[in-house]
Amino acid sequence: MPFTATPRSATTPASATAGELALSGGEPVRRRPFTSRATIGDEEKAAVLEVLDSGCLSAFYGSPGPEFLGGAKVRAFEAQWAGHFDYRHAVTVNSWTSGLIVAAGAIGLEPGDEVICPPYTMSASATSVLFWGAIPVFADIDAETFCLDPAAVEARLSPRTKAIMVVHLFGCPADMDRIGAIASRHGLRVIEDAAQAPGALWRGRPVGALADIGGFSLNYHKHIHTGEGGVIVSDDDDLALRCQLIRNHGENVVDDLGIEDIRNIVGANYRLTELQAAIGIEQLGKLDGILDWRRGLAHYLRPKLDCLPGISIPAVPEAATHSYYVYPMKYDARVTGVSRDLFVKAVNAELPEAVDGDSTALAAGYVEPLYLSPLFQRRIALGGGHFPFSLNPDGPDYAKGCCPVTERVQEHELMLSSIVRDPLTPADMDDFVAAIEKVLDNLDQLRAIG
Ligand SMILES: *Cc1c(COP(=O)(O)O)cnc(C)c1O
Repeated sequence: MPFTATPRSATTPASATAGELALSGGEPVRRRPFTSRATIGDEEKAAVLEVLDSGCLSAFYGSPGPEFLGGAKVRAFEAQWAGHFDYRHAVTVNSWTSGLIVAAGAIGLEPGDEVICPPYTMSASATSVLFWGAIPVFADIDAETFCLDPAAVEARLSPRTKAIMVVHLFGCPADMDRIGAIASRHGLRVIEDAAQAPGALWRGRPVGALADIGGFSLNYHKHIHTGEGGVIVSDDDDLALRCQLIRNHGENVVDDLGIEDIRNIVGANYRLTELQAAIGIEQLGKLDGILDWRRGLAHYLRPKLDCLPGISIPAVPEAATHSYYVYPMKYDARVTGVSRDLFVKAVNAELPEAVDGDSTALAAGYVEPLYLSPLFQRRIALGGGHFPFSLNPDGPDYAKGCCPVTERVQEHELMLSSIVRDPLTPADMDDFVAAIEKVLDNLDQLRAIG
């Protein structure tokens, strides 16, 4: 996307940043709402009608035969997803939460196994392993990428460690060189939660199957969607087969397929419908355009935000290509003398309200570190008897303070914006920057508030 940045003076008249902050009753930088995301077009509508006309909305059977792998649309979508990114296998599921559960079963987790996870992610990254009786162990994040810090992973290894759950948070790939090296040194499996990172690259290769197994979410909020849905990817034939078995009542077909190792083949129904697969095929065709658009806007914003005091733009490691699920910035209150939360409130007051929940506002932080939730604080998961935590009485540390970088980032530093998305334009970015500049130019008004 050839968006070119123009210097500040050409886009931001001095008058736009002067005057009273909207938070104190002044005129906001912009009132006109940002255009909503248009996620579904004529292509998806036509594809859905074709499936409806066929009368077959899902062709799966939970028994031996070709329909064990689903209908024509499901199989075509999987083949196209694998082909698009050059993965050996793609296995669709009805959500990526289901996909995480399936992948965790496929790698052979056993009750009492430990899985090292980041605490700064959507809860399912960690809770998925509990369904197999495995225990999440939280390792701290890197302060720049917000993904697992390999040194912290190393410090949390124990004889019980079986796997590492890597999350490519906000669309930024985690350091797969160092995490891959730790995994091979200790014989661990790696699951990549790439829900927020379709098309993100590490050393030029798409994330997801850089190690053993991984996948993507197709829920409404992600880059592309099928309402709800997910795709598991792997280059490993056995893991992909095990995913197909767990997805769809595999216990009924293991005899027929001559499968000896039936561990974790307690099949569920995690199947995607033909309707969703038909939508997914059209959405996949739009992904590259969406990624180009977002990367173009991020590139445009870079020089405009990089020069501002107290604001850090997203750090993108040399080996990484970001996919900008959201646009993460860091804030330094020591520079501004104003708390992050008040700063965020002041910037949001300069910008229009979100339309239809399609938020473009700044968020102060992301989620509370997962270990602080009642599930981990009280160690109550499956049943009331502390299973599976009870399998390891001197189990992992879930105390406040156990991942200090995550806590600092969440409480004081991170600001997230969804402004970097289609169909917004460089002119919209200019208003976003102008709102931030106006607040920075009038910090004394905020210091007076407190
Ligand atoms: C969205 C998301 C999930 C869950 O995906 P669903 O399809 O909503 O179940 C898991 N992990 C991360 C990091 C996510 O962003």
